[in-house]
Amino acid sequence: MSPFPQQLIDGYRTFTSQRLPTEQSRYRELSERGQSPEVMVIGCCDSRVSPEVIFDAGPGELFVVRNVANLVPVYAPDGGAHGVSAALEYAVNALRVKHVVVLGHAQCGGIRAFIDNIEPLSPGDFIGRWMSMFIKPGETVSQRDRESMADFTVRIEKAAVFRSLENLMTFSFVQTLVARGELSLHGAYFGVAEGSLFVLDQEAKEFRSAREMLRANSE
Ligand SMILES: [Zn+2]
Repeated sequence: MSPFPQQLIDGYRTFTSQRLPTEQSRYRELSERGQSPEVMVIGCCDSRVSPEVIFDAGPGELFVVRNVANLVPVYAPDGGAHGVSAALEYAVNALRVKHVVVLGHAQCGGIRAFIDNIEPLSPGDFIGRWMSMFIKPGETVSQRDRESMADFTVRIEKAAVFRSLENLMTFSFVQTLVARGELSLHGAYFGVAEGSLFVLDQEAKEFRSAREMLRANSE
């Protein structure tokens, strides 16, 4: 059997010598009091898009669920085991988070697989079946006239954020709390190469640069 990855042991050593000393009391407090994060993030598994890193979050600050292409399924009380729905239920009904953020990103492998309609990686084809929830029955997704492949990909990556936000509202507990103003839903998109963040303006249905928002705020 191969040993536990050395990279992780080394990382843990750094954690105990650098981060833990400054956060020890926070960990202790969280252990005694329990967690009470105000924000849930639904992001992609992609190793380049860690919500804790992007939002510089400490322990207890973000309740995170990550899956291929940051998808939220439609509410389906069908007796199946639904991981995202379970996490959502816990975050909203038990932890009473105030915000749910769907975080999409550039160069998403899940979206790429969906666009390219690639051959299944296994006979079980988990990715294909997972990504199929992205489209509604009868819906088709195709490249527009004169739309470059790069633009098409970004459009679909952002559409995944819109679809997840739409699907969040199929959960009655989400609907109720949103109507009461006790829960808000948000979309964001991370550009890997530049480390750029775009925040969804839901009225305009457009993503706006967070850097520009920061600049406007500091003026
Ligand atoms: Zn992804």
